[in-house]
Amino acid sequence: LKANNARSLWHPMTAPSDSLKNAPTIVTGAQGVRITDLDGHEVVDAVGGLWNVNLGYSCQPVKEAITGQLDRLPYYSIFRGTSNDCVIELAEELRTFFEPDGLTRAFFTSGGSDSVETALRLARQYHKIRGEAGRVKYLSLKKGYHGTHFGGASVNGNANFRTAYEPLLPGCHHIPAPYTYRNPFNETDPARLAQLCLAALEDEIAFQGAATIAAFIMEPILGAGGVIPPHPSFMPGVESICRKHGILLIADEVITAFGRTGAWTGSRLWGVKPDFACTAKAITNGYFPFGAVMIAESVAQVFESDATGKAAIGHGYTYSGHPVGAAAALACLAETKRLNVVENAAARGTQLYEGAKALMAKHDIIGDVRGGHGLMTAIELVADRATKSAPDKAIPARVQEVAYRSGAMIRISGPNIILSPPLILTAADVDVILSALDAGFLAL
Ligand code: PMP
Repeated sequence: LKANNARSLWHPMTAPSDSLKNAPTIVTGAQGVRITDLDGHEVVDAVGGLWNVNLGYSCQPVKEAITGQLDRLPYYSIFRGTSNDCVIELAEELRTFFEPDGLTRAFFTSGGSDSVETALRLARQYHKIRGEAGRVKYLSLKKGYHGTHFGGASVNGNANFRTAYEPLLPGCHHIPAPYTYRNPFNETDPARLAQLCLAALEDEIAFQGAATIAAFIMEPILGAGGVIPPHPSFMPGVESICRKHGILLIADEVITAFGRTGAWTGSRLWGVKPDFACTAKAITNGYFPFGAVMIAESVAQVFESDATGKAAIGHGYTYSGHPVGAAAALACLAETKRLNVVENAAARGTQLYEGAKALMAKHDIIGDVRGGHGLMTAIELVADRATKSAPDKAIPARVQEVAYRSGAMIRISGPNIILSPPLILTAADVDVILSALDAGFLAL
């Protein structure tokens, strides 16, 4: 196999011609928190797969759970009157983890985009059951990322993921994100900015008419948009505005659930109880494509006590509740608890965030560092700190290349370097990431 033999493969989020010009790094192996490429070069994976490999690549109990389940029951559908023992056990187990968030039922999917689509659709159905069929619109944040299905892309707040696929779902409207480094209000105080964004939300609700809105969807910490943790007052403010207007709150926890933020969920970090929490990614840590939408007790009861016949669920996936995915998820939950990775995420997250801030003091190319809540950190690069102008596209790519040669795989998203390593990494692994980044900046 050669790196330039990738002609038949189209990579997501890459122009096909780019893959032909720039050979991709071909990963051929992984152990612990390290990945190995075709040339045998081994680095710390500061991306954690794609924010999902919380437990690293050698989690023996997960591998055994998968092979054991493959031997017992590799697949059976959970459509129309059938189920499987493993997925029932998983739903019960998830309930114990999510009950503090008020989320007691699970609807299973095959990944994050499916989970978002499921929550958006069930939100409309919830209102129809309650006789409010006019509630069909969705509100969300600019810079939010919610996957690539048409519903998720419609609530997505980044033009790059929208324009090529328009027209998207009608009735989706976006409000400014509480992004202190750049915002339309030129407000640099996070608490005041949160209030301005909440006022923009109230304004949009009044403009659209509250009785037309089904749900508001947000990530408790914006991930792909550049790791944007809102001020602690923001999500509780969103929650109370939603409650006041009868709008459902969907927390897109595809990245934030299962400990990445140093708390079990991102919503819990802010003391918020959403109506739906979309999860995927770390639920199976990359070992199997899988997802779950966690549903609030109050929402579940509306569906379960319906006598009108409107609660029949015409939504689901062939692989909803896949027994092998369920077995992997059960093992991941057990390992996440046993290894105390949530606590480690908080401690190592602080080390990584402080280390990135120290790099900012040293390198003018860094305009902003965001994080401080577990292992989600972004380093935003600028050509000029005063004007905050974006650097040439080649600059982040150059940092990435040198950092890789110096021992760490990092991810570039626009002007941001994104760091989301496995939650099991050690203090020494964090030091490797920081020194690889330092090497990358020094080489500019
Ligand atoms: N929501 C969020 C917040 C995400 O970060 C992602 C994926 N990065 C998705 C949804 C979509 O998940 P998937 O790629 O598994 O479909």
